[in-house]
Amino acid sequence: MAERTLIVGGLVVDPARGVESVRDVLIVDGEIREVAAGLSKKSGLADAARVDAKGLWVIPGLVDMHVHLREPGRESDETIATGTAAAARGGVTTVLAMANTEPVTDSPSQLEFLRSKARVDAKVNVLFAGAVTVGQKGERLTEFARLRRAGAAALSDDGRPVMNAGLFRRALEYADDLGLLVIDHCEDLTLSGGACAHEGPQALRKGLKGAPWAAETVQVMRDIALSELTGARVHLAHLSAVSSIEAVRAAKKRGVRVTAEAAPHHFALSDDMIPGYDADWKMNPPLRPAEDRAALVAALADGTIDAVATDHAPHGCAAKSLGFDTAPFGVIGLETSLAASLTALYHTKALTKRELVRRMSTTPAALLGLKSKGTLAPGADADLAIVDPDAPWTPEAPFASKSRNSPFAGRRLKGRVLHTFVAGRAVVHAV
Ligand SMILES: [Zn+2]
Repeated sequence: MAERTLIVGGLVVDPARGVESVRDVLIVDGEIREVAAGLSKKSGLADAARVDAKGLWVIPGLVDMHVHLREPGRESDETIATGTAAAARGGVTTVLAMANTEPVTDSPSQLEFLRSKARVDAKVNVLFAGAVTVGQKGERLTEFARLRRAGAAALSDDGRPVMNAGLFRRALEYADDLGLLVIDHCEDLTLSGGACAHEGPQALRKGLKGAPWAAETVQVMRDIALSELTGARVHLAHLSAVSSIEAVRAAKKRGVRVTAEAAPHHFALSDDMIPGYDADWKMNPPLRPAEDRAALVAALADGTIDAVATDHAPHGCAAKSLGFDTAPFGVIGLETSLAASLTALYHTKALTKRELVRRMSTTPAALLGLKSKGTLAPGADADLAIVDPDAPWTPEAPFASKSRNSPFAGRRLKGRVLHTFVAGRAVVHAV
């Protein structure tokens, strides 16, 4: 007997097909079967499980292409099980896990181990990035073809930049031949070294060592030049500075194959908002002034920045209480990603609902080459979220994540995920 679910009366927002209207969605055996008005009145569907979505949005599940799941090596901070539970809570149905695990995910056997672990433990789809260099040491390229055969969905040394330009040029060329996306963490370590904040008045006032915006932009410009030189694709992680955005905007105008992402904390928060020396507000790149934040919002609106990605980076309370200068970089983000984005982008009228869903689902799915995700087209995987865009919500610990290092804890947001479906199965029912 086919497993059938009917989602009734929601506002379906599917940018890939230009759909934004009240429809019923029929799911059969894990796939979207039909999206149309009045399906709930069809007699043949009387036995389908029903979910009432009146007054809510029904959107393709979010695809977060920048997540740290900490397994293996730091299971006390997060695991595949808890990280994907956090994703499900946030309406995120596919994540790309970064390779800076312990040991680094730089070999086919490591990838095979992680993928088999995810098949058992994960509550949402998990893709894995392979490292660009062996041990993320920036010295020797990993074996890209073998990593791809073992299931690597992209390549990245994220957590660290690939500082050697000659090596990175070859990485772009080889990866492009294999159809693999290379994601770079843009940071010139000779400029940022040892800093914990954005170099500017706020860091000065607090007596913190700041990294200049140029630490990011120098490497953004280098990567653009290398993409232009080789004709290969490059994707820039967590852009945060006005100057980086301007460089990407100009490069795209010239036809350079560069894409970029931004994280909710960077476009929703700025460095003047950091309460005292609270390390739950410390991440890399750091929060910057309000002008940078505004530029990120504008860049998400005009498409200079292609995707929203959280850079979900769990750290335990002990590490985060070491003080702002010594605590590790990173904040969790999967559970608050949609609410923070709705609050900062949609409710401010910077982005339409369609543009928001495009940046959080459609485009990241396309960047990763996922043809049956990022849309509610018939035949697509039934990965979707049902959302109340107007519900007031103040996130608080405990989270589904094992960690609680969120700058959004205690902040009023507007928008909440009520149901999340992965392959037609409900993984979250918040009501
Ligand atoms: Zn990074």
